[in-house]
Amino acid sequence: MSSAAVPRGLSLWHAVGRNRRERPALEGALDVDLAIVGGGFLGLSTALHTAEKGISVAVLEAETIGWGASGRNAGFVVPNFAKRDPEDIIAQLGPERGEHLVGFAAGSADLVFDLIKRHAIECDAVQSGWIQPAHSPPALQKTRSRVEQWARRGRPTVALDRPAVEELTGVRGYLGGWMDRSGGVLNPVEYARGLADAAEKAGARIFEHTRVASIDHLGDGWALKTASGSVRAGKVLVATNAYGGPLDRALRRTYFPLKIFQIATAPLPREIRTRLLPGGQGVGDTRRNLFTFRFDGEHRLITGGMHVFGPGADTRVPRAIWRRLAKHLDLPEIPPLEYSWSGMAAVEPDFLPRLVDLGPGLIAGFACNGRGIAMTTSMGKVLADWADGTKPQDLPLPFAPPAPIPLHGLTRHAPNMLLPLSMLRDRLDG
Ligand SMILES: Cc1cc2nc3c(=O)[nH]c(=O)nc-3n(C[C@H](O)[C@H](O)[C@H](O)COP(=O)(O)OP(=O)(O)OC[C@H]3O[C@@H](n4cnc5c(N)ncnc54)[C@H](O)[C@@H]3O)c2cc1C
Repeated sequence: MSSAAVPRGLSLWHAVGRNRRERPALEGALDVDLAIVGGGFLGLSTALHTAEKGISVAVLEAETIGWGASGRNAGFVVPNFAKRDPEDIIAQLGPERGEHLVGFAAGSADLVFDLIKRHAIECDAVQSGWIQPAHSPPALQKTRSRVEQWARRGRPTVALDRPAVEELTGVRGYLGGWMDRSGGVLNPVEYARGLADAAEKAGARIFEHTRVASIDHLGDGWALKTASGSVRAGKVLVATNAYGGPLDRALRRTYFPLKIFQIATAPLPREIRTRLLPGGQGVGDTRRNLFTFRFDGEHRLITGGMHVFGPGADTRVPRAIWRRLAKHLDLPEIPPLEYSWSGMAAVEPDFLPRLVDLGPGLIAGFACNGRGIAMTTSMGKVLADWADGTKPQDLPLPFAPPAPIPLHGLTRHAPNMLLPLSMLRDRLDG
């Protein structure tokens, strides 16, 4: 196995990216209608959609565009919720707000691929579908109900029996599953960079290496301070996800910070590449210890997994994920590990996207839960309506003050700590 070949903290996508364009740090004072803290998908999609309405907007990014989760994910475009289905969301939020939120998610992948087409973003995007194969009889039952619920809402979904899953994925052993044809895969760093270019073309200002140190209420707006500049803004969006650091004091106890690892192998030999995923979809199965896989444009196999606590995790976990490939994909020989990296996801206790009310005209947005590409892009479109005057309560997303998770100091690592139990339950299912 070759060792990881990318600088620590970045990803395959940064290493192979072609369209990197430097942007200046903010110097001096700036006055805008909307200031956005964070240059990931959420900040960039909001900037693009807001600028397209003719509203002045600036993005302040502490590092570089796509430095956070947006540049470290697996590139699956998934138009549904992790662990939640339309009917239970409607039971939780009521018919009107529930259907709004379900509708918001349902069209989210289409929005991503439409933007890519409209702005000619070169990011190896393929709207080939997203497949969820079932690993156990109870999981199969769940996928049957899930596909019906989305199909009833007009989504391009299809139930898959065992042979259909085998034909589409090239993997034996799954009992069936389902596919949403509007999903797909892309190169996330190039997508983020393309969104940034499109936002700038529409009139947005984007600053890199510009860390926001403070946000203070000032008159009828907000004052943001950075090391070498300041911004006065009527409204502010905090789009820092799980990377907010000192800035997110009010937010950090509202989500579980989840460390996720990703790996990419060397390109696969042709005979194996044509057996696995000949249609180029993205796959994420029903295991609690989720197994995902896809190919990039160079036929590298990409998969991921969670972090188990203990010494040497940064080396141990990528190797364990790499070995799991051979088992799950029935590979005679696993191609060498070429890249490994990790990123932080902000996971909400109820796995739903949300807007957090931090004050008059100050909002934070979280849409991750492992489905962030499509959801953050959609959230950005919705937040442009907020920038344009729509009340946050009238947007199709839950909106509430910060709700700290009880005993967060103890429970914040629960998703990682419970992983061995999840793995055991997966084994018992099978
Ligand atoms: C390993 C991994 C794999 C994933 N796989 C998928 C997937 O396949 N499909 C999918 O849909 N989702 C996936 N996700 C989730 C998805 O990547 C995220 O939901 C999405 O990228 C979040 O975007 P964002 O803009 O909210 O935040 P981020 O992309 O995390 O951006 C936050 C930005 O804020 C900046 N920032 C922080 N503090 C400050 C400050 N004070 N001043 C200025 N800037 C600041 C950071 O530098 C960072 O760039 C994955 C996540 C991880 C971690």
